[in-house]
Amino acid sequence: MSDAAQLLARSHELRERALVRTPGGVHSNVRLGGPQVFIEYARDAWLYDVDGENYVDYLLGQGPNFLGHAPRHLVEAVSSACERGLIFGGQHKLEVEASEVVCEALGWPDMVRFGVSGTESVQAALRLARAATGRKRVIRFEGHYHGWLDNVLAAEGSLGWGTASVGQLPGHLDDFAFVPWNDEERFARAIEEEPDVAAVIMEPIMINAGVIEPAPGYLDAVRALCSKHGVVLIFDEVISGFRLGLGGAAARYGVVPDLATYGKAMAGGWPASALAGRAELMELFDKGGVNHSGTFNGSVVAMAATHATVSHLMDSPPYERIASHGGALMDGLRGIGEAHDLPLRVEGLPMAFHVSFGTAEVTDYRSLQSLDLDRYARLVPELVAHGLWVAGRGVWYVSACHGADELDAALTRFDKTLTDRA
Ligand code: PMP
Repeated sequence: MSDAAQLLARSHELRERALVRTPGGVHSNVRLGGPQVFIEYARDAWLYDVDGENYVDYLLGQGPNFLGHAPRHLVEAVSSACERGLIFGGQHKLEVEASEVVCEALGWPDMVRFGVSGTESVQAALRLARAATGRKRVIRFEGHYHGWLDNVLAAEGSLGWGTASVGQLPGHLDDFAFVPWNDEERFARAIEEEPDVAAVIMEPIMINAGVIEPAPGYLDAVRALCSKHGVVLIFDEVISGFRLGLGGAAARYGVVPDLATYGKAMAGGWPASALAGRAELMELFDKGGVNHSGTFNGSVVAMAATHATVSHLMDSPPYERIASHGGALMDGLRGIGEAHDLPLRVEGLPMAFHVSFGTAEVTDYRSLQSLDLDRYARLVPELVAHGLWVAGRGVWYVSACHGADELDAALTRFDKTLTDRA
């Protein structure tokens, strides 16, 4: 590759301009510490920057580009929807079709309400749970992320669980009780002892902090205790939904929540989210006085993107292909770590896995901290400079567009990064 200053000349210029008009030069704080590279365009599993360099993409827009960048069927559906008008302030057929296909793909929900971002759908879920139970408190899990708004942001980035932002309301977490992930006993104690519990909310597989699966039987135990205490169980499947399989984590682990939130992969890159659930809960938006509003909810293009993406996933499921690529990539990365004599660890599922350094056993957020997460974060700018587009927090996402060429490029570039820094 060309010399670094040369490589980033155009990006550097854009960055200088961005800093004048935008705090930190970025529009989401998640990107503050990220690569200062400006992307010109993206196709399939590749990004191309304004300086002419390319990157194999394993970040996928933080997850949404599950079918790759600009897949034909999605671009066509969105373009033809645009021609008919963008937003009506009234109902349209695509909303109905998108609702039907989402419920059919997921299998368990009766009804769905669309929104624009995962954060908003989480808010709707919490409000609905409180309305349904007449209770207030929520049990949640250390290291799980549920959006950036005042009442749920408990993370330093997505990883921590202490106070997250200057300017949040004092006492914004007073209505939440935190328990460690994968600790059945602690959860049982919390739900027995906490007063006034309306809901339990979780990422049914931790992906924002490490990729940590639920221990066998854990979700069943949580489900049973929620049912016993009349507590609404909310799965936040904003990342896992449609990625782990058509039915998301609920289907993978065979546990049905009362409500679940979706986003990211559901619309293939277009901003759209969903709250799905059992009819008796969802009907409260209609007959129970629970407000859920939004100018852009169910907008034409969002519905076209959702319908096209979910229909495509049903008609041509890419899950086996993704599992095979992801599995080979995980093995390849481990092999490179061994060859360089590094304690590199690669854990999780082929469609979303976590790369870090360390040897400790990891079952929850606290044990994750015993890994050398900073060491991996320090490697990321070098990986990017070698043409691998990955995130500092260590999660790698695989899409339906990753194939043999991408596998070869990823492993070669990863290996070269380690060799060049040695
Ligand atoms: N829940 C989870 C599990 C997420 O990963 C995210 C985003 N990373 C959100 C909620 C918030 O979604 P959005 O960024 O679309 O508001």
